[in-house]
Amino acid sequence: MTNTHRLLNAVHPAFCSSVLALFVACSPATPPATSVAISPPVDDASADAIDLIIAGEYVVTMDGDGSVIRDGAVAVDDGLIIAIGSADEINARFRATGNLEGNNRIVMPGLINGHSHAAMTLLRGVADDLALMDWLNNYIFPAEVEFVDAEFVRIGTELACWEMIRGGTTTFVDMYYYPDVVAQVVEQCGLRAFVSATVIDQRSPDAESAADSLVKGKVFVDNWKGRNSRIMPIYGPHADYTLNAEQLAATRAAANEAGVPISIHMSESPFELEYSKQAYGKTTIDLFESIGFLDGPTIGAHVVWPTEDEIRILAERKVGVIHNPTSNMKIASGISPVTDMLAAGVLVGLGTDGAASNNDLDMWEEMRLASFLQKVDKMNPEVMPASTVLGMATSGGAEAVGLRDRVGALEVGMRADIIQVSFDDVHFVPTYDVISHLVYVADEQDVASVTVDGRLLMRDGEFLTIDTERVRREATDLAARIQSALAERNR
Ligand SMILES: [Zn+2]
Repeated sequence: MTNTHRLLNAVHPAFCSSVLALFVACSPATPPATSVAISPPVDDASADAIDLIIAGEYVVTMDGDGSVIRDGAVAVDDGLIIAIGSADEINARFRATGNLEGNNRIVMPGLINGHSHAAMTLLRGVADDLALMDWLNNYIFPAEVEFVDAEFVRIGTELACWEMIRGGTTTFVDMYYYPDVVAQVVEQCGLRAFVSATVIDQRSPDAESAADSLVKGKVFVDNWKGRNSRIMPIYGPHADYTLNAEQLAATRAAANEAGVPISIHMSESPFELEYSKQAYGKTTIDLFESIGFLDGPTIGAHVVWPTEDEIRILAERKVGVIHNPTSNMKIASGISPVTDMLAAGVLVGLGTDGAASNNDLDMWEEMRLASFLQKVDKMNPEVMPASTVLGMATSGGAEAVGLRDRVGALEVGMRADIIQVSFDDVHFVPTYDVISHLVYVADEQDVASVTVDGRLLMRDGEFLTIDTERVRREATDLAARIQSALAERNR
């Protein structure tokens, strides 16, 4: 391995400025408003008393029919969606301990962030607009080597959970160090998450080598498996340029033995493409297929440079591809062929990547850029319409990460991961087509309430599970220490 590779490898599980895109796009027609039947009445009279009713002028279900209910409501009890219908029907049928009023509100499934490095919020904006090696060697790398420990991960993950709740994300797939700490923060803040034990063949903040990180990963997975239904411990082998084929296969074997998925960076950059060809004589996904690495649930982040043959493999193997448009643009990784992958039947969700290469965790922006990037790439405004992109952030994202039986749509029997979006803001006036507005207008500041597993995490902008002032103070203090250390080093 060359020094260049070592430096690249030593950085973190992310390669991944907001870009303002000025496009005019035709929005597809919103499906006709329909009424969805509520559950049949239950004999037990006490069943009328339930935990929560969430109402909205629009209930965007993201179910198989794309039903949108005008003046609707969702009934929630014991963490589950037990009925969906018109607000009149639901209110006549149930009495709830908690009620979220529906005036100027859109109700929809929570968003699914399929790829993140949550704690990297603490490195948000530490260095931007630099050539990759300069960025890595002089900023990110020294900051991580010096500062990433359990406390950094705790504070950074809390900061990320705060931002994700703020923006209506209810499930995320994380890859970073000290996964035990990440899981503890997720347990506390109430979100749903896949937490990866990073496996990487180098000295990292919490391990010395691939073997060491795999041993520690096994302890983490065993420790958290089945402990909390919201938290899914998984393996996060970093990439094919930071692990060799044997290490990748060993990680897959460990994941299959434990019956958990894998999350991995896959075919992200031209660098990775060249590295794979030189090291293995194959491109990344081809390599993975040849060593049986895709024999099990796999969440592949980025997938910017797949060949046609590899797209076929992704579809056949039901790999959940996570598209990260902001990061791909900021790092200049390239444009992922999302339209082609969707046409080939690949499961595609959306993600933010880490905040050092984004620089926020706003899934609304990912939706917008995912659409615009494909339109300009294909020079065709008809590709990636709003409804497709909204699906990638909700039901399609849930399918990509293997949770479609639990979340991603508002359907009876699903876990109650539900958000309300306010359309009080001027940018919602007028509202002709609610799906168009959710994708092309809304941003994280418009989210009013967030519920996961039937538990309210944010109500009318008030955070119920995170002491935001403490997190702000701790993050600011730690950032000041990072900044002065970097200034000292670069003097
Ligand atoms: Zn990443």
